Amino acid sequence: MGAGRFAPSPSGDMHIGNLRTALLAWAWARRSGRKFVLRVEDIDRVREGAAQRQIEDLQALGVDWDGEVLFQTTRHAAHEEAIARLKERGLLFECYCSRRDIKEASSAPHVRPGSYPGTCRNLTDEERAEARERLAKVGRAPALRLNPMVDEWSVEDELFGTVTEPIDCVVLQRGDGTLAYNLAVVVDDDFQGVDQIVRADDLLSSAPAQAYIAHALGYEQPRYAHVPLVINEEGARLAKRDGAVTLRELTGLGMSVADVVEQISGSLGFEARSAEEFLRVFDPALMTREPWVFVPPEA
Ligand code: GLU
Repeated sequence: MGAGRFAPSPSGDMHIGNLRTALLAWAWARRSGRKFVLRVEDIDRVREGAAQRQIEDLQALGVDWDGEVLFQTTRHAAHEEAIARLKERGLLFECYCSRRDIKEASSAPHVRPGSYPGTCRNLTDEERAEARERLAKVGRAPALRLNPMVDEWSVEDELFGTVTEPIDCVVLQRGDGTLAYNLAVVVDDDFQGVDQIVRADDLLSSAPAQAYIAHALGYEQPRYAHVPLVINEEGARLAKRDGAVTLRELTGLGMSVADVVEQISGSLGFEARSAEEFLRVFDPALMTREPWVFVPPEA
């Protein structure tokens, strides 16, 4: 049996857009007979106490999960092991570039905007030794980048169909030794048996790279559903500064959790006042695919 998942970064309280994504991921997994797992992506962007509050909010919403919550920081050894495996397969290279080096090299006409210009990809052993020494002198160590064997990769998405993106030499381990989200997310999804990834569509363009990394590690390819973001009245992605947007803020203004679930369900084209009810009526084929403009209630 496969699993769906929700994998929040504990950077603060979730807003109604995050809650909506969580409810969708949960219902999508449950209605397809999958397990549902929760993972706290606490390898960066951590705010004290946020993980616990996120867990409480999900419980209040009526979202449940199988097994223990997985904290990503407990997975360091597995992430390191994946790095070692990719290295062994020739799928990583050391990169000695500073941000400035990359910026300068990226302005060359053949470089795709925003992509790594390839500076350190094909250096000789001698050049590497020199570069390593140069970095060591200023107290830095090289980063490790993906050395992809393909130019592009495709994933299947329930809402977007086949999505193909060029595969860039993304950083998988930074110079300070920290493992990148793009690596951790893939290793941990596999570890938790995740074969269905439902998340906000701001991550759509990262999906092919993540699926390629999964392939490189010998994992099955997951299926994706990238769901629309919730936006504010200006059309920008909803944020905390937009007003009362978290569950606690909304209930503080007199809304009940059932009212919040009703709003989320309504925005997706369904009528439900609890997670249970939502699960009964949810059908991906009938779901509204437009972004939802959320107008926070006045205090
Ligand atoms: N932890 C990421 C975030 O909260 C999401 C990762 C994912 O769903 O793949 O932005």
